[in-house]
Amino acid sequence: MITVSKQISEHFSSDEFRCPHCNKLKIDENLVYKMEHIFSKLNASKCIISSGYRSDEYDIQIGGFVGNHARGIAADCCYYDKDGKIIPSKIVICVAYDLGELKGIANIDGNYVHFDNRTAGTYYGDERVSNNSVWTNPYDYFKVSREDVIKYTGEVIENDKKVNVFYKVKTNNTGWLPEVKNLEDYAGSKNNAITDVAIKVDKGEVKYRVHVKGGNWLPYVTGYNINDKNNGYAGNGKIIDAIEVYYYTPKDIRPFKRAKYKVNNYAYQYDNEVSEGQDGYAGKFGTNIIKFQIVIE
Ligand SMILES: [Zn+2]
Repeated sequence: MITVSKQISEHFSSDEFRCPHCNKLKIDENLVYKMEHIFSKLNASKCIISSGYRSDEYDIQIGGFVGNHARGIAADCCYYDKDGKIIPSKIVICVAYDLGELKGIANIDGNYVHFDNRTAGTYYGDERVSNNSVWTNPYDYFKVSREDVIKYTGEVIENDKKVNVFYKVKTNNTGWLPEVKNLEDYAGSKNNAITDVAIKVDKGEVKYRVHVKGGNWLPYVTGYNINDKNNGYAGNGKIIDAIEVYYYTPKDIRPFKRAKYKVNNYAYQYDNEVSEGQDGYAGKFGTNIIKFQIVIE
């Protein structure tokens, strides 16, 4: 954390991140390096910070709670192109997303973006809509084409075609648990049997279904919305003992990828494969699932 006046990177000085209310300063240099990386990819001419560090008091005053600005890991800013024109926030967001370095990225008003260098979870937001994550792929959500971005970057930014998977489970005692990304954690809670599962990916599609303990397979679902009991998650509130997931690789990603997933401490299952000792699903009929993990590889 930087707390003194200092040039942090080529285009950013720590003073630009001071709290406007008390002039105090605390800013994460890694956030600034990532903003500088975005600056260079955009071929920008300048970046104006509208809000960097905010003291607890000021953060509460303007936002109602102590957030990432008060932790010194967030900044709101606007980038300008070589002609001095504002680069639309949706372009900046796509570039930040492609670089894959920041987990907190949100549109503020079409010009300004919010970046934060959070380490746990992801926040892909649109503050015109809400303060929750609302998109998984900014190209789709903001209706941006690769060509729109290339006008600024002059190149396609290869984000190594990584596919991220996000998922959450509900158990018989806890309700829905927090979302997990890839193998950063597992979904589940000690000794609580899982009843429902929701899965989404940021590229391509998934279809998945669960098997009810002592019952049958429920229909496949493809959505991710715990309020949509028809297609938003798999499960009917009863304890499950098996899960099947299939990943559809989009055309612009080759070689094909598969859903690699496991329950409890059993071996990994790939898609619905039945070769090499796989069952076509993860789980064991008659045994509660208390832990679930998935990654797309
Ligand atoms: Zn912000």
